[in-house]
Amino acid sequence: MTADAALPSDTSLVDALEPADAPDAAAVLDSAVALDSERAVDAVATLLRGKRAAVLTGAGLSTDSGIPDYRGEGAPKRTPMTFQTFVADERSRKRYWAGSHLGWPVFRQAEPNLGHRSLAQLESAGAIAGVITQNVDGLHTRAGSRHVVELHGSLDRVICLACGQAFGRDSIATRLETDNPVLRDPKNIRIAPDGDADVGNIDDFVVPECTVCGGMLKPNVVFFGELVPTETFLEASAVIQSAEALIVAGSSLAVNSGIRLVEQARRRKLPIIVINRGVTKGDGRALHKLEAGTSETFAALAYRLLG
Ligand SMILES: [Zn+2]
Repeated sequence: MTADAALPSDTSLVDALEPADAPDAAAVLDSAVALDSERAVDAVATLLRGKRAAVLTGAGLSTDSGIPDYRGEGAPKRTPMTFQTFVADERSRKRYWAGSHLGWPVFRQAEPNLGHRSLAQLESAGAIAGVITQNVDGLHTRAGSRHVVELHGSLDRVICLACGQAFGRDSIATRLETDNPVLRDPKNIRIAPDGDADVGNIDDFVVPECTVCGGMLKPNVVFFGELVPTETFLEASAVIQSAEALIVAGSSLAVNSGIRLVEQARRRKLPIIVINRGVTKGDGRALHKLEAGTSETFAALAYRLLG
């Protein structure tokens, strides 16, 4: 690793899920360019030809797979569970597990879309150095991408906060249903506006414990108020260091770890391309901003670069 590759000294403060500061006006490489979409894709393809790009993806990439984007335009406001509340408050933890259990089938049944598949093709052809994702749905890996950094973890695993033992989500789902017959009939359950479930007498709800040590279990995802593991951030950083361009796709960059990776790319003078419907905190650093869907844009880029 060169000196240039060293991380800023405040890496330990990288908090993915705190709001990021507004972009520094001095950081602007070029103003975002509005072109009609065909010409914009042509320009981006020309820029990327012969380069290996890092790709940073967010929820917008998975909406075409039926997974809702809670930060996207028009999304209802919801108050997310914080790590501190999860560990400190048993009733909140029970409500979280009940709601999360009901949402699990949506994730489990989701299939990679054209955007995920196009990225996997581009990686196979050597055009992509790696995919860094804020998504916890595992769809990049299922689409065939090999170098994937899951910044916020993955919902298909559950970990013990005491001993670190990992469990498959399906086995925990089975235990939840065994211990809580109310979950077997979704008609018994009302979903509150914040996404948590109302399952009647919440005090009777049984949350699973670690079968190894009896410790508290938590989905292996980064909650609000929790840090992205340093190792994971370093891995993401290494992808940026090895790339010759950065594509940000389907993310408004509302969280700090995302904007910090964009800032690393800017310091390395990498061309930055943003593909997102709606404003992002990276727009001021972007050479090209495409107001477009990620599925069709990555398909169009793969066609131009690989066709
Ligand atoms: Zn344990």
